[in-house]
Amino acid sequence: MPRFRAILDTVPAYKAGKSVVSPDGRSYKLSSNETPYDPLPSVVEAVASAAREMNRYPDPAAAGLTAALAERYDVPAEHVALGAGSVTLAQQILQTVGEPGAEVVYAWRSFEAYPLLSDLAGVTSLRVPLTDATHDLEAMAAAITPGTRVVFVCNPNNPTGTVVRREELVRFLDAVPGDVLVILDEAYHEYVRDADVPDGLTLYRDRPNVAVLRTFSKAYGLAGLRVGYLIGHEPVAAAVRKVMVPFAINHLAQVAAVASLAAQDELLERVELVVKERARVREGLLAQGWEVPHTEANFVWLGLGDDTVPFADHCAAYGVAVRPYPPDGVRISIGTPEADDTFLTAAAEFRSSGRRG
Ligand SMILES: *Cc1c(COP(=O)(O)O)cnc(C)c1O
Repeated sequence: MPRFRAILDTVPAYKAGKSVVSPDGRSYKLSSNETPYDPLPSVVEAVASAAREMNRYPDPAAAGLTAALAERYDVPAEHVALGAGSVTLAQQILQTVGEPGAEVVYAWRSFEAYPLLSDLAGVTSLRVPLTDATHDLEAMAAAITPGTRVVFVCNPNNPTGTVVRREELVRFLDAVPGDVLVILDEAYHEYVRDADVPDGLTLYRDRPNVAVLRTFSKAYGLAGLRVGYLIGHEPVAAAVRKVMVPFAINHLAQVAAVASLAAQDELLERVELVVKERARVREGLLAQGWEVPHTEANFVWLGLGDDTVPFADHCAAYGVAVRPYPPDGVRISIGTPEADDTFLTAAAEFRSSGRRG
């Protein structure tokens, strides 16, 4: 019998968002925070023509994409590190610190990859409970010990959609020791409309221990191609690049990301549609009597407790796949108006059937 690391016996499996089909054939996937729109024709064309080069290895340094990001954000190219999705970058970050005694602090509940990747990297998780579905930054600062090497701040938080604002975040960053790396995971940055939520890139510039994580998977619509990036100071970006598997970002992903940056205005128009739809869905739920935390992401959160799984099953009967996180609640991605209307109908029916919310 081959022997494996003991941690593999207890590591939580990553559960991806599912698809469901209703008895009458409807299917709306609101379980993975993807954009509901088809890829832009200009991006599809760039990928299709790049497909003719797939016999060649990709550029290992992804120089074109790195330069495009550096220009887009006005940062040195040395501050950019790429990964096959930002979840892979989170893994790379944890690999840069994973050794006996190393700890990572993050809020809980938050992105479900954090515990999984921390366990796999041999980094001990210190989870700080959310307060009102929101990061408790004071408690997170207090949780830091001499063993703490990394802190993840997911802003907006997945799966609750809540945010931390500039003043409290700056106070937190000022309190964190300089040898602790703070990762601002801004996977949903493009959906933020609250002017008091800081752009992490304005915070990292004069803080060598702060880095920002972003992705092309959500607002930029490239979830299937796997590309994300970190922006941090040179020692951080260099360490993260060192643990990258060679050629991890494939050629099609590089080309698609560059084409998406070129089509940014068009993509951000779609983000605006989702933001409007988000307000409509949240107001619809509030009108039905649900409690819904304020959200700045492309999803809403219902803290349903014991009703979490029954609610998800109920939505599935309508062809709506949502994301249950038992025992805490359900995350529902914002989709097309048709998908969202179907979801709102399902939610209303659940409530009127006497179950709580
Ligand atoms: C979706 C998500 C990511 C990353 O997604 P990738 O597809 O791996 O880029 C990272 N962080 C959070 C909080 C997310 O929700």
